[in-house]
Amino acid sequence: MSRVAVLYTPLSSGVRCDLCARRCIIPEGKVGFCNVRRNVNDRLLTDIYGALSIRYIDDIEKKLQYHFNPGSSTYSFGTTSCNFRCKFCINWELSTEKEFVPVVKMWPSEIVETAIKNGCQGISFTYNEPTIFFEFAYDTAKLARKSNLNTVLVTNGYMTPEAVEMIAPYIDAASIDFKGSGNSHFYRKICEVPNVQPIFECAQMLRDKRIHIEISNIVVLEHGDSDQEQYKLGKWVLDNLGPETPLHLLSFMDRCLIDHEPVGRHVIELCNDLRNLGLKYVYNDFETNTNCPECGEQLIRRDLKMFDTRYTVTYNLTSEHACPKCGTKIPIVGTCYSGRKASGFRVGGAGYLWDYPG
Ligand code: SF4
Ligand code: SF4
Repeated sequence: MSRVAVLYTPLSSGVRCDLCARRCIIPEGKVGFCNVRRNVNDRLLTDIYGALSIRYIDDIEKKLQYHFNPGSSTYSFGTTSCNFRCKFCINWELSTEKEFVPVVKMWPSEIVETAIKNGCQGISFTYNEPTIFFEFAYDTAKLARKSNLNTVLVTNGYMTPEAVEMIAPYIDAASIDFKGSGNSHFYRKICEVPNVQPIFECAQMLRDKRIHIEISNIVVLEHGDSDQEQYKLGKWVLDNLGPETPLHLLSFMDRCLIDHEPVGRHVIELCNDLRNLGLKYVYNDFETNTNCPECGEQLIRRDLKMFDTRYTVTYNLTSEHACPKCGTKIPIVGTCYSGRKASGFRVGGAGYLWDYPG
């Protein structure tokens, strides 16, 4: 569905898109870098309003939100294309559009109704980058807020300040996915992103707007696996977002990589270093439980069995979200959910049959 875009500036020749930090200048009849924003008669149009390539009921944990309404279900969806070109993208069929991806059309009201009908507590804008389907995410988030559903933005963080300013009032939590520890050379070479500074600024701006933030960093072997860089990003999170900001270190596993044990051991050591640095909640693929940063008591256990798509989340917390052993308050936003979850199967899916791991 085509629709007039928000946040663009008419120029003497063409228009400038002000949604993401690329700020593409788009001549008449052409599209921007993401391929889904088009200059038609010097008006910028989005081609993907409500054109969903994937919808799924997920656990909030799969959005890399461990401290936001843990154990809840979130109605997750994405469109096609992206403003990055990450060579390791697990959703490359969607983000590159190199293969035909069937889409289903939905209105924001249908998303909200479906989420409620299926017992979800919230909605997540995810799978590909929500900035490029900004108008649809914005309208849906506004409606979700009215319907008491929470909203989660899973983003690469390349939004402009104007875009953050516009959508922030309707977003409750954001997962900001760093790649290669935020190293500028890695972003240029592997993701085709010219400048990393806007990502750091976006994270700070979302934090300043009191949106719950969790940071993830995907570590790609041989390209973005420098300990020094990971430590540097951890230090930045500590200094700029605070010691209670959850940090998730993810090892990118090539689908053909069989022996990943050495990577696991390595990541665990690194996480310990980051905890010693002062970050209180550092997670990785092997350490997904929340332990008390003061006494080490296990407080939230997250189990994901092999071939299961849903987490089982169990709690050892007081009603005030504190450690029962030493009383340390754990920063949890919202409610701790447990028990029966909304169904995890694809809801009238678009015929796109991937099993999404994240
Ligand atoms: S969203 Fe970003 S990549 Fe797409 S047209 Fe706008 S500035 Fe360019
Ligand atoms: S930003 Fe995310 S969706 Fe976009 S190409 Fe990179 S990994 Fe894929």
